[in-house]
Amino acid sequence: MKSTLKYTLIPIIIVITIIIGTFVFYNRLKSSRPKYGPDYKLDTEFSLEALKTISQDSHEFGSTNQLSVKNYIIESISPFSKGTVEQTFTTRVPVAEALDTHRFVTGYNIFAKSKLKHKKNCTILIGSHYDTKKLPKGKCLGANDSGSSSVLLMDYLRYLDSISNSDINPECSLSFVWFDGEEAVLFGWNEWKNYPDTYQDNTYGSRYFAAHLESCTGKYSRYCLPEEISSTREEIVAFILFDMVGSYNLRLSRDLNSDLGLQDIFASIWNSKNQTKIYKGSYVDIEDDHIPFVKKRIKSIDIIDLNNLDHWHNDQDNIEYVSIQDLSRVAESGMEFILRLASKPQILYSK
Ligand SMILES: [Zn+2]
Repeated sequence: MKSTLKYTLIPIIIVITIIIGTFVFYNRLKSSRPKYGPDYKLDTEFSLEALKTISQDSHEFGSTNQLSVKNYIIESISPFSKGTVEQTFTTRVPVAEALDTHRFVTGYNIFAKSKLKHKKNCTILIGSHYDTKKLPKGKCLGANDSGSSSVLLMDYLRYLDSISNSDINPECSLSFVWFDGEEAVLFGWNEWKNYPDTYQDNTYGSRYFAAHLESCTGKYSRYCLPEEISSTREEIVAFILFDMVGSYNLRLSRDLNSDLGLQDIFASIWNSKNQTKIYKGSYVDIEDDHIPFVKKRIKSIDIIDLNNLDHWHNDQDNIEYVSIQDLSRVAESGMEFILRLASKPQILYSK
């Protein structure tokens, strides 16, 4: 009788020990997981309204429509940001209809800083462009290219404002920039390469922005925000670019020019949140607004879908082909990504 009881008790004790052990381990794991704020969800009403407004007409670099879009973005984000700055620049561009001639165009980059409190003098810079492609015939409304990423950044500022009085207090700040003049003025995106006498015809705004960063001796990079756009002159830890992130069945492209560490971190976040694979196809050499930052050795990533190109640079890039669900997915992984980088910038430099 005694030995039967002993043999019955042993497995029960083992099972109880395993249950308690698992519980303690799980709770430890939970508390050691860094907290990056309440779960962010893209505000679909706010984003759709902004996307409708921005993509109601084409708005090319140097056009009057682009001035209206610039004013609309500034007006929309001002209540949510610490300060909004217009960075004005004038540049020479080729004339598509007469290749041996040029004209001067004034462009406007928009810079805004999130209200989230932070501990140190460093920033994660997040960018998008906000101009549309000029077509030889018809109009490109640019709902995906560049509307999707423009509203994503606007919604980020809205959300960060809503948590600015919480105890979320990362090491670095989050700064946002909307570039003007990403699209080539000539009809092909790299047509200028066929005319050796001409000059690079795209990424006008980002090249100007990167060229006007201040040199500094930071912990993570050698460049800081210039005084003209941020009086605190924060060191730029990383540059995160979003472009064309609103296609149905979004599949991101693996870019050769993006930082591998940043790609790994973003992919691990994406894979923990989504059933679908993040990347499609092999590595591609993507020329976009991140290149001027890559050239300055600032760790950069281009989060872009160059697989879904049916409506790219044509008159079908309108809101009916933008999937708010796919945009939400990239936005949600992106928010965790930028908050993680701002909270622990050293993870980028530990490898
Ligand atoms: Zn484009």
